[in-house]
Amino acid sequence: MEKLLNELSSESKAAYAVSCDVEIDCAVPENLKRKTAPGLPSIAENDLLRHFTNLSRKNYALSTTFYPLGSCTMKYNPLINERIAKLDAFSHIHPCQPAETMQGALEIMHGLEKDLCEISGMDSFSLQPAAGAQGEFAGLLIIAKYFKSIKQKRTKIIVPDSAHGTNPASAALAGFEIIPLKSESDGSISPEKLKALLTPEVAAIMLTVPNTLGVFEKNIPEISKAAHANGTLLYYDGANLNAVMGIVRPGDMGFDVMHINLHKTFSTPHGGGGPGAGPVGVKAFLEPFLPVPRIENKNGKYFLNYKKSKSIGKMKAFFGNFPIILRAYVYIKSLGAKGLKNASVQAVLNANYMLAKLKDKINVPAGNRCMHEFVLSPKAALQNGVRTLDVAKRLLDYGYYAPTVYFPLIVEEAIMIEPTETESKETLDAFIETISKIILEESAQEPQKVKDAPANTPVARLNEVEAARKPILKWS
Ligand SMILES: *Cc1c(COP(=O)(O)O)cnc(C)c1O
Repeated sequence: MEKLLNELSSESKAAYAVSCDVEIDCAVPENLKRKTAPGLPSIAENDLLRHFTNLSRKNYALSTTFYPLGSCTMKYNPLINERIAKLDAFSHIHPCQPAETMQGALEIMHGLEKDLCEISGMDSFSLQPAAGAQGEFAGLLIIAKYFKSIKQKRTKIIVPDSAHGTNPASAALAGFEIIPLKSESDGSISPEKLKALLTPEVAAIMLTVPNTLGVFEKNIPEISKAAHANGTLLYYDGANLNAVMGIVRPGDMGFDVMHINLHKTFSTPHGGGGPGAGPVGVKAFLEPFLPVPRIENKNGKYFLNYKKSKSIGKMKAFFGNFPIILRAYVYIKSLGAKGLKNASVQAVLNANYMLAKLKDKINVPAGNRCMHEFVLSPKAALQNGVRTLDVAKRLLDYGYYAPTVYFPLIVEEAIMIEPTETESKETLDAFIETISKIILEESAQEPQKVKDAPANTPVARLNEVEAARKPILKWS
């Protein structure tokens, strides 16, 4: 176990001494001044360096190991993008600068909006939302405001149970009532069952495509027709656009509103909660409702337009998370149209390769084909009371990050695997062999070993419920 910094601390050691010769007395009110010196640890330089280097080596990261985390898309994030995001010209600009002095940054944001329109078939994008869920929330506020503007009272949103969990949450937050729709055994939704739910109060249908089972919804033209005939809008959860880029466009399929997760599809390392970017895109008739400011161009100069009377307002400070926007722009420009399409084709091919190798041994609830990810339900294959959680923990012993487990909720003992586009056949084969061995052999022959896993990690199995309920965050 690595010691904590305060355990390493000793008064006789110090890497650096901090001294302050700035007179701050006048600025700090008396009641806010500290009475005692802060208890900062005092550590020798080498010990400090080793402490952090050793901790960093305990991390699972895409740069050290395969990371098949379904739905969260730990994909290739080229290091060149990190270097560009760090350039002084970008990292030193201040969002309060006058627009004339940040034309380059505005041009990039404007350019990315245009690129996302081209990729998705929508007419306008706002880059402001800071996450997928916030993009959904913005899209739903736009839908609410649109119906208000045409004086229609529509209070309901249809959400299939194969949608991402943030969909019903965002709709509820935006004040809508959720109508759930059960999906069919192949993971698709039934147009007949959907039509039966389409009343004049339904504002929108939210579809996650590909859905959380990794299945492309096959009835979109029929769903789109029925929805629009009812005056209902169609929402596309495009968090995982890396399955369809360059192949099919939500705008062409009849979707009116969508969001994209730049931090899943367009290169940004993520995990641990951000930062991210979830641009919201709309068809032309909804453009006036997009968040302000809009980035516009007049006589070759970019400026920020706040004067949009129908706008839902601001979603986020300034323009959104600019460094994420920048990485996405560089990623799109460096891959080009062909490269983006190829990334999707490879992602889908890799997932189908793994699915084909596993499906005869382990139950796959949603059929024989998938998009960029797929879901296993190993309940029948597991022996001796071994569960999916045990399989996930045992994978850590073999040096793998565990796939997403117990999601989607509609699959028993779900294991959701997303290999992404950049992994080699050797890596995929090795993982297939390991997970098959755990489920089919170890659960039968050495169940206790699997139930007690992990054995090779710095800490064994944690009480996750207690850790979440009673976190110890205090410096002791
Ligand atoms: C990840 C994801 C979201 C939510 O995105 P956040 O950035 O985590 O808020 C929404 N829908 C789908 C399909 C996702 O995979």
